[in-house]
Amino acid sequence: MIENGKYSHGHKVARLESALAAYTGARFVIGVNSGTDALVLLLRAAGLRPGDEVVVPAFSFVASASSVVLAGGRPVFADIEPGGYGVDPASVARVAGERTRFVMPVHLFSQLADMDALLDVSRGLGLAVVEDSAEAIGMRHRGTHAGLLGVGGVLSFFPTKTLGAIGDAGAVLTDDPRIAGVVDALRHHGRFGRTIDNFPGISTETGLPGINSKMDDIQAAVLLAKLTRLDADIARRARLAARYAESLTGLPGVRKLPEARPGGVFYVYVIEAEARDELAAHLSARGVQTEVYYPVPLHLQPCFRYLGHRSGDFPNAEAACRHTLALPLYPDLSEADVEKVCGAIRDFYRGRS
Ligand SMILES: *Cc1c(COP(=O)(O)O)cnc(C)c1O
Repeated sequence: MIENGKYSHGHKVARLESALAAYTGARFVIGVNSGTDALVLLLRAAGLRPGDEVVVPAFSFVASASSVVLAGGRPVFADIEPGGYGVDPASVARVAGERTRFVMPVHLFSQLADMDALLDVSRGLGLAVVEDSAEAIGMRHRGTHAGLLGVGGVLSFFPTKTLGAIGDAGAVLTDDPRIAGVVDALRHHGRFGRTIDNFPGISTETGLPGINSKMDDIQAAVLLAKLTRLDADIARRARLAARYAESLTGLPGVRKLPEARPGGVFYVYVIEAEARDELAAHLSARGVQTEVYYPVPLHLQPCFRYLGHRSGDFPNAEAACRHTLALPLYPDLSEADVEKVCGAIRDFYRGRS
């Protein structure tokens, strides 16, 4: 690749798009620079107009909501389900108003959002569903891959994701040829063209102000290689998660373990714990690296202060921020390491009681 000098938006990217279309069942996969860009371009291609509202769960990565702002819209926060980490369909119904046109479920950690209930509610309210499926490669709802349950979704290939590149990369998934055509153009300065043959009826002119969000071929090559062992990696993650569950079930101090909903993938293994920060420090002192993904809910982030929320507005999201802790989980982790982590957790709570 270095010798032939074709570094960006080349054949490897096209091959990766086909391979991902085969893996997910999407009619169209459009490779871009990151999962965040994929969200922004998908929202624009799905027809978001300036000032349109998009319902976003208050417990998520900040890009779920900032992508709405970057696409010209206004995020409207909703709470997450009491028992899981997906947006609560009842809360969506409460916060949606006149100007609300989209809802963005986020498939967080190891489960899909409650899609049956959410699709019902969004149909009733006339909202289009755009999925933040950045973490959800391999997750399927009744056989349909995440990202294809509404008008479209995204994937992130950030190095820590289930399918990770050696830098940034992302993709849009959709079955809609019009959305695919517009995303294809937007990632390349609004130039309709490279794959124009696949999208008949779309103009060949620069019709839209786009951005530069092309995927690097080196990332596509890495992802193509890793895609061949993705299902084996997912199975390994499930085995390690089962091991955690065996060791941690019933342990005092561990409030909640991840539920195994059908169709999920253990992208991460997130527990809810008493004295979460002290536990994380205890583990860190023993060489166990953990992660608190979202210590602050989106409605209390300084960048969304203008939306006028206060603490207490979304209690489930706020509780998740206080108690969730991601334990180490990656395919190369050994069962013995899982036991070591669980032993250290047991010691911590024994020491406190
Ligand atoms: C990783 C992630 C993103 C952003 O993806 P990048 O490739 O890092 O830009 C968006 N939403 C969620 C839920 C994510 O986990």
